[in-house]
Amino acid sequence: MRQFLDVKERYPDAIVFFRLGDFYEMFFEDAVLGSGLLDLTLTTRDKGKVDAVPMCGVPHHAARGYVARLTELGHKVVMCEQVEDPKLAKGLVKREVVRVVTPGVVVDEESLDPRAPRYLAALVPADAGAGGDGAWGLAYLDATTGEFRATELPGTAAAADELCRVAPREVIVAAAAMVDGGAAGPGTPVRRHRAAWSVTAVLDDAGARAELAASLADVPAGAALAVRAAAAVLAYARATQPAGALPVVRLALYAADAALVLDEAAIANLELTETLMGGKRQGSLLDVLDDTATSPGARLLRRWLLYPLTEVAGIRRRHDAVEWLRERPELRVALRAALRGVSDIERLAGKATLGVAQPRDLGRLRDSIAALPELAKLVSAAGDKLAPVPELLDLRGVATNELAKLAAHLSVALVDEPAPMLKDGGFIRPGFDKTVDECRVLADGGKDQILAIEAREQKRSGISTLKVRYNRVFGYYIEITKSHLAKVPSDYLRKQTVATGERYVTPELAELESKVLSAEDTLAVREAELHRELVAKVAALAPPLLAAGAAIAALDVLGTLADVAERSDWCRPQVDDGVIIDIVDGRHPVVEAALPAGTFVPNDAHLDAGGAQLLLVTGPNMAGKSTYMRQVAQIVLLAQLGSFVPARSATIGVCDRLFTRVGAADNLARGDSTFMVEMRETATILAGATRRSLVVLDEVGRGTSTFDGVSIAWAVAEYLHDAIGARTLFATHYHELVALGETRPRVRNFSAQVREHKGEVVFLRRIAPGAASRSYGIDVARLAGLPRSVIARARQILEKLEAGRGGGLQSAGAQLSLLASAPATPQKSPRDALVERLRAVDPDHMKPIEALNLLAELKALASDE
Ligand code: ATP
Repeated sequence: MRQFLDVKERYPDAIVFFRLGDFYEMFFEDAVLGSGLLDLTLTTRDKGKVDAVPMCGVPHHAARGYVARLTELGHKVVMCEQVEDPKLAKGLVKREVVRVVTPGVVVDEESLDPRAPRYLAALVPADAGAGGDGAWGLAYLDATTGEFRATELPGTAAAADELCRVAPREVIVAAAAMVDGGAAGPGTPVRRHRAAWSVTAVLDDAGARAELAASLADVPAGAALAVRAAAAVLAYARATQPAGALPVVRLALYAADAALVLDEAAIANLELTETLMGGKRQGSLLDVLDDTATSPGARLLRRWLLYPLTEVAGIRRRHDAVEWLRERPELRVALRAALRGVSDIERLAGKATLGVAQPRDLGRLRDSIAALPELAKLVSAAGDKLAPVPELLDLRGVATNELAKLAAHLSVALVDEPAPMLKDGGFIRPGFDKTVDECRVLADGGKDQILAIEAREQKRSGISTLKVRYNRVFGYYIEITKSHLAKVPSDYLRKQTVATGERYVTPELAELESKVLSAEDTLAVREAELHRELVAKVAALAPPLLAAGAAIAALDVLGTLADVAERSDWCRPQVDDGVIIDIVDGRHPVVEAALPAGTFVPNDAHLDAGGAQLLLVTGPNMAGKSTYMRQVAQIVLLAQLGSFVPARSATIGVCDRLFTRVGAADNLARGDSTFMVEMRETATILAGATRRSLVVLDEVGRGTSTFDGVSIAWAVAEYLHDAIGARTLFATHYHELVALGETRPRVRNFSAQVREHKGEVVFLRRIAPGAASRSYGIDVARLAGLPRSVIARARQILEKLEAGRGGGLQSAGAQLSLLASAPATPQKSPRDALVERLRAVDPDHMKPIEALNLLAELKALASDE
């Protein structure tokens, strides 16, 4: 208990998994908490005592799943292991904390999504109080790959948006900022981010630089807040790995606005990584794109998607590479085949430095390195087409002797398919190490000798069923069944009686046994030692391995983008620094993929900050307005991330920011009203948009009364036109706004077209110039199955409203208030009344007289029809 209490004192905020033999045990409040969260039986130590210690445990081989569940719930788990062999220990077995698993620092491969990073982030506000909207430092680290980045953000809103884009699982902040009223206190915009929030100490500038300098060759100058956040992340992550080093090589300082700025709403509304409804990956843009062959590739594609470029030259370099690959289908097949032979080099290198790599991991690394020269050749063959993509430069650099030598060494040292775990043994190749070979001969030889003894003894005793067996208690023994006991030779020493017979030992067996066992022990120790050496050799080459992983990821992503371009018939967009977006026959990549081939209706889009700046899109519900607007935004985003786009042709004047205001489904769970969210998002857009931005607004003002709604929508559209000049797609149901097309020079009316056919509405899914003639809302309501009586009544009300509309909004409003005195619930039709009455009847519990009365009542209702 002393050992446990010592550990607990050092990690008061974590659940301690304390190794006792084959179990991890939890004690005291950890046991109470753990047993509840993990459905374990809570017992007590020293049963029967008055103040017995509560405890619960999990078998050591199943610990991984339990630890993962606790960290998913936001807890930290301290793994405290026995670090000496209990057989050899004098007194208490020594135990040490080997790892702390926190929501943001999980290094166990099996508990991680291989296709997404796992980030721990730190936030450092310039001003810990919430009063000012000062600058923030944000840093984040993926402890499995050493990806380590930091940035500075001008204000709280920008910090909250960047946090959303990074999506860390755990965020650490200084205590002073986390309290009520603090910059990251409860209810603040940053704190809305869903993650585990932990308190940490934050160093001052000099302390932070010293902390970073201890692990990194280069500490970026300036950027004090970013550097302090980076130091906080590193120190916290390092403390979780007392037994190994983090695979951190460098800190990348970046400016959040060097990439296309995407705020939380844009990421959610454009369904970049998950769908708006249900948060599923399937149905997201990433899902349509991601056919990568490697996990580093999948992670990089996600990053490219969330950080599209804004620099034209960089974008064109990616397009060049995609185009070159798209024109070479055979080469892409070869590329894919080579990539399939490559494991997750980044995470494997990370495991080596963290000291958790297993023999099989080393084997995978060896085989992956072997695939590098082939991939490097491919890049060189492309000459100036692929190499300019910065990540790929590294591939040529790393397919060098250094890694080749490492692979050669691993080949000599390891068998072809090394065991998954160190404890399985048998992974050192024969001939590599003298001790290993000798021990194996001894151990195996001993076993052969034992077989020989068995045969000899069978003969000598005349007992053909005599068996030499082994167990952990007696070691080797001879077992003889009851029926043969009379024939047992006199020199056998009886050890145990079992149901089926007797067990004996002989001096010869005992001697052999000790030889075999000591050979096996020596073998295990030696293999572990060699394994450690190999892991250290790999860890020493972590930097080039990580660079190779990054290059492979880039190659994988470019190949994947080329594949999708060809498979889905996408075109290369022309990007420039202009302010025009011109898309011919654009398609929505996700909606198109979900529809039968050839049924998606393509649409053009022409936006120009100096001409058709604001497209006002009207038309019925369900006609395709949202799809159209999102498709324009997604095409711009795809173009800027370096992809081809779903269109016949596209010219994209690069955007600096992409704003959308579409739905508010997600935020409802956080307790905000729909209208509040809508207005907050609109405010963000008006505050942040520039002439170079793209703004997509879907039905602004919908969440409030008609008058307020129209007025707000109108004023927002005017502001975007008059004051900001951003290219804007503006869908609205308020037909009054169509008038803007006449009064504002850069507003253009467009509408989603429908045709009326035999009284039915047919959606053409075509967006054409001109305003919609009417809204068809009631037709759509009918399609959706609203009762006929409600539809009929709605038409009546609409007619009255429209009749009063000649004088514009004002008179429509007057009509509205007139109607307020009309019956709130329209009269039911007789047929509906009949059906409703019948539904309410329970024939099993009716008296005959009641049934007769009902019949009369129904007849009366029917005669009204
Ligand atoms: P609301 O105003 O109710 O939001 P909307 O006009 O925005 O409606 P969308 O949600 O864009 O309509 O589209 C409705 C459905 O129509 C989509 O789910 C999609 O299946 C289909 N659709 C939209 N655009 C097209 C298109 N261009 N080609 C084929 N089908 C389309």
